Amino acid sequence: MEFGLTVRDLSFRYGRKLALDSVSFDVPRGSFTALLGPNGAGKSTLVALLTRLLVSREGSIVVAGHDLARAPRRSLAALGVVFQQPTLDLDLTVRQNLFYFAALHGLSRRDASVRIDRSLDRLGMRERAGEKVRALNGGHRRRMELARALLHEPSVLMLDEPTVGLDAAARRAITGHVHDLADQGVSVLWTTHLTDEVEDSDQLLVLHKGRIVASGQTGEVRGGQDLQDWFLARTEEAA
Ligand code: ADP
Repeated sequence: MEFGLTVRDLSFRYGRKLALDSVSFDVPRGSFTALLGPNGAGKSTLVALLTRLLVSREGSIVVAGHDLARAPRRSLAALGVVFQQPTLDLDLTVRQNLFYFAALHGLSRRDASVRIDRSLDRLGMRERAGEKVRALNGGHRRRMELARALLHEPSVLMLDEPTVGLDAAARRAITGHVHDLADQGVSVLWTTHLTDEVEDSDQLLVLHKGRIVASGQTGEVRGGQDLQDWFLARTEEAA
């Protein structure tokens, strides 16, 4: 099987603290892969390594066939990221924010215009293009960040706890949109500490104390157990 993202034997230390301990996993192409872990598991560290905010000499990360250490530009060009903290200019319109980001990626105005419309259409946001971000609710702002992460048409999309601060309806909408993107062939890595964001058909990775402690298709991995009970049994005793 071809993989959107491959991580092998990745370790990372903050001084003497081992935050990631020989982590290996694959995000199959066009899958929705949930990386589930309690606070302190190492999710943010992993996200920082995948986006090259941190660099490790132990292990490898391959994005859409490109080794992140050897071909960082190509790797990062294939990766779309939605960070946990929103980074939108509230006083610009949706379209202006996206143009700004497209310019950073070196897209011409014409190309940018086409891609912005396509990207907004994918998220059902086209009719909001002229509104200032300040006027949007939290769910629409998040959707817009998702549209922005897709502008350079990445094949791998990574989202770092993307539903933080959203109400139940907005959470459901955003998880639905991201599942649609996976169905369209985008390889998705979705980090979360919330089991109710994970569906039985999703690929599941459980990260605990810097190690992958379980992986597989969620429905199979949990067996007959409730996912929350199953997850707590594997992670709670050390909390
Ligand atoms: P998560 O995002 O899953 O909550 P983190 O990646 O933030 O987990 O943290 C993983 C481990 O590394 C935790 O034990 C945390 O205390 C530790 N850690 C995170 N950042 C630092 C840092 N800058 N210095 C030292 N330890 C850190």
